[in-house]
Formats: sequence, structure tokens, C-alpha cells
Amino acid sequence: METYYLIFFFILGSAMGSFYHVVATRLSNNESLVKPGSHCHYCNHKLKWYELIPLISYIIQGGKCRKCHKHIPLSYFLIELITGILFAVCYHVFDFSGELLIALVYISGMIIVIISDIEYMIILDEVLIFASVAITIIYIFFFGINTTLSHLFNAVAAFGLMYLIKIIGDFMFQKESLGGGDIKLMFLSGLVIGLPLSVCTIFLATFIAFPIAIYILLSKKDNMIPFGPFLSMASVIILISKINIQDVLDFLVK
Ligand SMILES: [Zn+2]
Repeated sequence: METYYLIFFFILGSAMGSFYHVVATRLSNNESLVKPGSHCHYCNHKLKWYELIPLISYIIQGGKCRKCHKHIPLSYFLIELITGILFAVCYHVFDFSGELLIALVYISGMIIVIISDIEYMIILDEVLIFASVAITIIYIFFFGINTTLSHLFNAVAAFGLMYLIKIIGDFMFQKESLGGGDIKLMFLSGLVIGLPLSVCTIFLATFIAFPIAIYILLSKKDNMIPFGPFLSMASVIILISKINIQDVLDFLVK
């Protein structure tokens, strides 16, 4: 049975991943989510249902539009694949529970943040607000008001901490060190994994970002690298690893 559920969550995730790509792209460009329907960005060819099957359509069409044969970016395929894998992993880690629902909503938000921040240097307020509200409701429903309040307290604390880091960073580098989106992102992170693990997220994100930032700076001479995707990736890793702060402290002390 476990295998069937894993497959179910993988398929669900890949379909949602396809949708999140649309959400990230259209909201970043102030476009409607429903109209027009899915189409090829080169020739405007309207996609039929069999051209919209996550992963499979891309493979069958060899990553090309059926009409104009232009290449569809590999990112479409990768986002569907990664979201599918993450949904299946979440089910495996959290089983059927309130935590599973929270993890799925959180990861969905993070996928959209990663896409919009990489492609447009935007972290969408709508996405952060929607995810925060949905997760708060799930907390109230499954864990009661006291637990919810404690999570909200952690969210505000993580937000405040990140704001403080920004003020110090701006002063040290004499320019904008963190975007407003990164600070709001920490609210959501604090809400789900708590303040101590959010601090770990900042360190882990810096650790992941450092070699990549050096590579980008050396190769493209582009000095604007969004930090949001790294924060998102780091917090998702921490969330699904189910690590707790005591483990981290034990590891550091040893
Ligand atoms: Zn086309």
C-alpha cells in the first residue's frame, strides 16, 4: 500500500509543480492565473490535454513544442520532477497527519518562491500570505490554539531576527544586503520549523550559496544573486530531514 501512496503523492506533486510554474510566472508578470489557457510561448499554440501531462508530455515530445518544434526549457521538466519527489518524500516522512499537510503547503510555497526569485528576482507576497494563512489554519485545526500561538511567536521572532541581520548587513556593506522578500520568507520559515531551526536555515543557505555565488560572480560578472532560493532550499532540507534543534546542538558541541 505504501508504494501506491508514494506513487500517488509523486503524481500529485508533479501535477502541482506544473501548476506552480504557471503561478510563479504569471503572478510575477501580473497576468491572470486562468486566462489564457496553457499555450506555447513561441507560437501561442494552445496546448491540448495530452500535451499537459506532467513529465510524460515533455519526454514524449522530446522537450519541444509539437507545433513549432522550439525547445521547451528543461526547467519545466525539472520543477515537475522535483515537486513530485518532494511530495512523495513528505508522505514518507510525515505519513497521513497534520504535519504532512503543513509540509505540502510549505514546500509548495517554497517551490513558487524559488522559481519567481530565480527567474524574476521577486518573492511574491501573495504566495507568502496564502501559505502563512493556510498553515495557521491547519495548525489551529490539528494542534489547537496554544500550539498555533507558539508557532506564530516563532514566526514573528524569525522575521525580527532577519530584519536585524538586514540592518547590520546594510550598514556593513553600505548597500541593500537582503531583500524585503527574504525577511518575509523567514516569517513563514519560523512559523513551520521554529526560530532555532530558522537560524540554522540561514547558516545552511549561506553554506549552499557561497560556492554557487562565487561561480556566478566569476562567470557572469552579475552581482545580483537572489538569496531567497537558497533560504527556501535550506529550510525544505531541514523540514524533511525532521532534524530538531537538540540534534544540531549535540552535533556542534561534540
Ligand atoms: Zn510552439
